[in-house]
Amino acid sequence: MSVGKTNLYIDPGPGALVRCLKSKPKLEPSTLDGILLTHKHLDHSGDVNVMIEAMTEGGFKKRGVLFAPEDALEGDPVVLRYLRNYVENVIVLKESAEYQIGEISFSTAQKHHHRVETYGINFKIKPHSLSLISDTKFFPELPNLYRGEILIIHVVRLKPVIDEPIEHLSVEDVKTILKKAKPKLTILTHFGMTMISAKPWEVASGLEKELGLKVIAASDGMKLDLEKDLVT
Ligand SMILES: [Zn+2]
Repeated sequence: MSVGKTNLYIDPGPGALVRCLKSKPKLEPSTLDGILLTHKHLDHSGDVNVMIEAMTEGGFKKRGVLFAPEDALEGDPVVLRYLRNYVENVIVLKESAEYQIGEISFSTAQKHHHRVETYGINFKIKPHSLSLISDTKFFPELPNLYRGEILIIHVVRLKPVIDEPIEHLSVEDVKTILKKAKPKLTILTHFGMTMISAKPWEVASGLEKELGLKVIAASDGMKLDLEKDLVT
């Protein structure tokens, strides 16, 4: 996410660095101001160490802030201890707290239901607001916690799975959330195999028709311009 001169990388999963370098225009990790982990699962954090190295030019330039839940840092941590001195600050994410990095303000809500400590994020990017619902099982408060004009939502399952041990949202859950939250623009992302087979863009247009809300499916490398894409 880039706001003004502030660059924040959210959830550097496996291949994050390679993707940065291959993207056009190239995203330069040494211009990052921070890295944010919504939770420690490897598909969200696999490249966090590599990205810290890249952001700090191998530790030669102490810079940047790492935001992460406590369990990503303690116990069985995903962030290597020797790298923590490379960044200027390591900030532990907590429930319902507010944070600031350069021109980006954001807050957490309550913990998600997702086995490891997980947070969704509400970003305030004046004059806009953007909510990110990271991995979670559905819980009744969820639609009220994320009221950004733009909602990015991790939807892994096409159909709900009863007693699913991995705890993710399904398209049914997304419907429930959108009916209440009514964001101006919803972006579906983080698809599991059932979503991929169902073609995410078709799922998105189905939701759009059914709910009368703008819903799109994210694709790799997709760019969202808050100034242009919201004017509809
Ligand atoms: Zn997860």
